[in-house]
Amino acid sequence: MTTEATRRVSRLEVFIARMTAQKTFLEEVAAALDVPGPVLELGLGNGRTFDHLRTILPDREIFVFDRSITAHPASIPDADHMIVGEIRDTLAFCGPRVGALAALVHCDLGSGDPTADLVKRAWLSPLIAERTAPGGYVASGIELEMPDFEALPRSADAERGRYWLYRKT
Ligand code: SAM
Repeated sequence: MTTEATRRVSRLEVFIARMTAQKTFLEEVAAALDVPGPVLELGLGNGRTFDHLRTILPDREIFVFDRSITAHPASIPDADHMIVGEIRDTLAFCGPRVGALAALVHCDLGSGDPTADLVKRAWLSPLIAERTAPGGYVASGIELEMPDFEALPRSADAERGRYWLYRKT
């Protein structure tokens, strides 16, 4: 017999857990952020998390990366802070434009495909690690492999929704 405890978790439930973990992580980090530096938002998408970040971190500069701009018109960064292109290229070469290392990198590039996410992890992890300030945080929808970072404890929503939080040591 399938009970509430044994049945499979539906994609809707994974999505809700993911959004809950994402919001919780970003708010926890915003409250704890104690290093200077900008925020890097990897994946503008609809602009929902960009809009949330600028609401909870009004004094931080936020640079947003995406290969194209498809966001809601109310959630598009100004031209100085929107970095358009393939993140593999733009993140590697954004230093002169972004300036200081990031206090927070939010990586929302997960595809939901485990193989594609493994490929992304391989090229993305060193790029994110290099652009993060010591003491800075990374919240990510892809599990990353960054030797100089501590993986922080995850809630049940983060486990179920596949969201990770790291801090650079
Ligand atoms: N954070 C967004 C929000 O709250 O609305 C959702 C981001 S959406 C899941 C992922 C975005 O990342 C897409 O807009 C896609 O174009 C962008 N993206 C994915 N891989 C990319 C890459 N390698 N380079 C540039 N942009 C990429």
